[in-house]
Amino acid sequence: MTDDIRISFEFFPPKTEKGRNNLNNLRDALAAYKPEFYSVTYGAGGSTRDNTKSIVCDYNQLGHNTAPHLSFGGDSEEAMLDLIREYRDANVNRIVALRGDRPSGMGGAYNMVYANELVAFIREHFGKDFHLEVAAYPEIHPEAKSYSEDIQYLKGKFDAGADSAITQYFYNPDAYFYFVDQCLAAGIDKPIVPGIMPITNYANLARFSDGCGAEIPRWMRKRLEAFGDDTDSIKAFGIDLVSDLCEMLLDNGAPGIHFYTMNQLEPTQTLLKNLGLEPA
Ligand code: FAD
Repeated sequence: MTDDIRISFEFFPPKTEKGRNNLNNLRDALAAYKPEFYSVTYGAGGSTRDNTKSIVCDYNQLGHNTAPHLSFGGDSEEAMLDLIREYRDANVNRIVALRGDRPSGMGGAYNMVYANELVAFIREHFGKDFHLEVAAYPEIHPEAKSYSEDIQYLKGKFDAGADSAITQYFYNPDAYFYFVDQCLAAGIDKPIVPGIMPITNYANLARFSDGCGAEIPRWMRKRLEAFGDDTDSIKAFGIDLVSDLCEMLLDNGAPGIHFYTMNQLEPTQTLLKNLGLEPA
């Protein structure tokens, strides 16, 4: 199955040596599933620049195809060119190009560059050196004025040269399939890979979802709330639900799955197992 569908795994850059060692172990365990690539998030405003860069460059040098997430943040064009050149020199061949969010406290100093502009910037200066991923929002980006406008902006990212998209996580498969249909109708025929978030901790998930505009359906909230502090039940419910979601997505034509691992092995590995994906 891994030969047919594209599997990728997302990490965040740990701040400590212990976290980095854990991440290296996670990477090695997940390598057995032959992912198309790993990706490493980036704090808009450059807060994780060195960490993200060091992980991405190290992993690529060890032969693990690893993409940095990238956004302009407060950086100048020159600083961005230097960073992207460093990535190219370290054999990085894929970038997740984002606008990012304004970090709190950065006020007017922050130069918000839309993702389509970043895609155009990379294409202008680096041609086809990178496969460019962009973000897509089946439940629509929280700042978008309308559904159709958000799709037009996604189209703008593809028109500027993006190759494929990874979605924000969602738990309602209909939202994804409707979105893909609407994208097709708008002339977007590139892969839109669902981003999948395992459920391990309800309080964190609820807080994060409210901020990024991902909906936790009411019936799911009610079930999860009822589990209270019973983390085992939350995890068991989450695994069943997200396994079914992944299966439904793949059975109905999703081109692959991008796992938001949250730097944890067990939930992602259990989902892979439930999907019949075994390590090579
Ligand atoms: P854009 O595509 O630029 O869109 C942002 C908003 O502006 C949307 O509402 C859109 O409708 C509108 N818009 C788009 N283009 C234009 C335009 N040209 N003119 C006017 N309006 C426009 N955040 C991080 O901080 N670090 C990460 O590593 C990170 N990784 C992510 C990975 C994925 C797969 C996803 C889905 C999200 C990720 N995010 C990350 C979150 C992301 O940074 C936020 O959702 C951010 O608010 C939008 O980024 P974007 O690239 O989608 O923006």
